[in-house]
Amino acid sequence: LAQLFRPLDLLGWVYRTVRQGLIDMAAMFELIDTPAEVEDAPGAPALVVRRPGVAFENVVFGYEPGRTILQGLSFAVPAGAHVAIVGPSGAGKSTIARLLFRFYDPRSGRVTIDGQDIAQVTQASLRAAIGIVPQDSVLFNDTIGYNIGYGRAEATPEAIEAAARGAAIWPFIERLPAGLDTEVGERGLKLSGGEKQRVAIARTLVKDPPILLLDEATSALDSRTEQDILATLHRVSRDRTTISIAHRLSTIAGADEILVMDQGRLAERGSHPALLRAGGLYAEMWRRQQAEKAAPAGQSG
Ligand code: ADP
Ligand code: MG
Repeated sequence: LAQLFRPLDLLGWVYRTVRQGLIDMAAMFELIDTPAEVEDAPGAPALVVRRPGVAFENVVFGYEPGRTILQGLSFAVPAGAHVAIVGPSGAGKSTIARLLFRFYDPRSGRVTIDGQDIAQVTQASLRAAIGIVPQDSVLFNDTIGYNIGYGRAEATPEAIEAAARGAAIWPFIERLPAGLDTEVGERGLKLSGGEKQRVAIARTLVKDPPILLLDEATSALDSRTEQDILATLHRVSRDRTTISIAHRLSTIAGADEILVMDQGRLAERGSHPALLRAGGLYAEMWRRQQAEKAAPAGQSG
């Protein structure tokens, strides 16, 4: 009988997810078949963010009992800093993002924001503090204005316009005959990958979170569009604590600190020049990517 209730549980979860404006996260984390397992602690207070520092303290985590993914991970992102997380595919980078957003709880250790254990505050307040720009942003079959403002029922047209300006997509919207009321998506205007990412950035600006999480936000774009979007992201992240997960190292070379993940552990950490000097995993990844750039005909996965 328990089986019969599973689809209903899932529907309930999807409903709550959509209601909380989290559908982007669902797509990002491919959670549709993995319902969130966490609940608010009874009487949990809201997260209060004064200095939006983020810390992982000896975090151990695995999705399944037999397999540990993060093996006691510790790092701190000071308020206002930009920390990048890099490493081979499967290293555990997106898992860090999922834990920060509290789609799962650590087996041991804790994750804090401004000194507060995120497992002890309401999920709504936690998720309001973090803006996410995923690799592929999902657009609804609705107007472009709705797609920018949907996380916030109270977003005014003025706030939506300001966010669109901040994301550098306002000139594009202004040229459309129906402006913000233009239908987009399958039945409306098709947006390019870069335009979609700008909509996702505008969405984040409407939310105005103190913490920004970029998970491969530009990796699906061609390199010229990537440069444009990176410039916008750089501007948007200036006054926020920013964690960016990246595949292309050239996009994060300017970060205050780079964490190099390998098999659920921190293999190396430091600034770009320091990591190059160290001649380890990062330097090797950098060398390989530079070689690929020099010989773009070479096929790579
Ligand atoms: P990265 O983002 O660095 O490529 P992930 O954090 O997505 O890596 O994944 C780390 C490891 O966890 C991988 O071995 C992956 O197969 C595994 N993994 C990711 N998501 C799940 C899940 N929902 N269930 C079980 N294993 C998962
Ligand atoms: Mg990932």
